[in-house]
Amino acid sequence: MNSLRAFPQIQSLVQDESLKAYPFYLKSHFSKLVVARLKKNFKGQIDKDTILKEIKKELDVFLRKDFQSVINASGVVIHTNLGRSVIDESLFEACKKSICSYSNLEFDLQNGKRGSRYGALLDKFKILFECEDALIVNNNAAAVFLVLNSLAFAKEVISSRGELVEIGGGFRMPEVIKAAGVKLCEVGTSNKTHLKDYENAICEESALILKTHRSNFSIQGFHSEVSIEDLGVLAKKNELISYYDLGSSWCENLNTKLTKNEPQVKKILKYCDILSFSADKLFGSVQAGIILGKKELIEKLRKNQLLRMLRVDKTTLAFLNETTRAYLEKDYDKITTLRLLNDELAHLENKALKVQKNIKIKSILKTSKSLVGGGSMPDKSLDTCILAFEGNALILQEKFREKNIIGRIENDFFVLDFRSIRENELDSLILKINELDL
Ligand SMILES: *Cc1c(COP(=O)(O)O)cnc(C)c1O
Repeated sequence: MNSLRAFPQIQSLVQDESLKAYPFYLKSHFSKLVVARLKKNFKGQIDKDTILKEIKKELDVFLRKDFQSVINASGVVIHTNLGRSVIDESLFEACKKSICSYSNLEFDLQNGKRGSRYGALLDKFKILFECEDALIVNNNAAAVFLVLNSLAFAKEVISSRGELVEIGGGFRMPEVIKAAGVKLCEVGTSNKTHLKDYENAICEESALILKTHRSNFSIQGFHSEVSIEDLGVLAKKNELISYYDLGSSWCENLNTKLTKNEPQVKKILKYCDILSFSADKLFGSVQAGIILGKKELIEKLRKNQLLRMLRVDKTTLAFLNETTRAYLEKDYDKITTLRLLNDELAHLENKALKVQKNIKIKSILKTSKSLVGGGSMPDKSLDTCILAFEGNALILQEKFREKNIIGRIENDFFVLDFRSIRENELDSLILKINELDL
């Protein structure tokens, strides 16, 4: 009798010893799914072990995708695929109080009336950046969109052809400008744009002069661009708005090897009307877009209906608030991105040595270079310490990845770069390497 009764009960599958380690809600879901599939293709023979193996396979695929921590040994501190900036645990603890409780998010404790959700942060930004006004949105892409849509809708924005960039994930400046309902007026060439190019392009339709940080690429050889200082003066003379999309940008206390020729938020603010940058790149906090600038312009942004759609949650505000407090208290070690980027080579060597001494497999300690990442500073690198492993690099990369250790391949060697490995991960890194099945 080729009956479907040959199938075991779902209950008996879920309760099977071989699935003991898996969460109940998943076992139950995948048991039903697998049994239904097998019943559909039923050829008259089935045994429980085959079904259990199928269920286990599905469970493993599901759990591998689950949101989990990894060790970033790629050397890239702001790694977009690995979550950009890491929040320090002490900072997380500080946020917990306001997140896991009712709060004064939009409530004025002084007069008992409705308050502004951005108020607390704005007060701190005014001290940190010496800005007139500020606004927070979901990310910098949203900031660019909101600024252009609020300040240049149905008018023209002037941008250098050398700065019409594509950031990772399909963010293309010309398309964002168009989507914001703004006309793009391109000036200059890919490699050279002069002040007179901007000057000649100004017309009745012009509303805004845009400067964009190239972020993820650099131009070598013959090139020239116009500084924000000059663009700010030109915009003012012609009653236009000057806006700088800084992309990443830095705030305070960053490794001097990286800061050369890189715009610092506070300085740039002196030369343009409005600027924006990502909160989870060099600023080292959570995903958000920070907009700073003239009060009258930020007011226009506040009045835009879009702001309601781009507004951030209290969790974001809590994290930004604590990161900003750390900057103000010069407690830079609490900002993981800064701590890692500022780490001295001698300390990186100590971290690498500790791991090398405690793992069973052989490795070679070397110095090398690491990139900053996050679409920032493509032309700059930092000295670093790596452990290189002998053997097939691709196979090693996969074996380490199975243990959630993400390294990189350099000169045909699989390597772990200690620039992006935090001190408090070393013990777990050693443990995981010693568990490797090589
Ligand atoms: C990264 C970047 C963006 C996008 O910022 P997100 O916070 O990732 O949305 C926009 N413009 C520039 C120049 C950037 O570098």
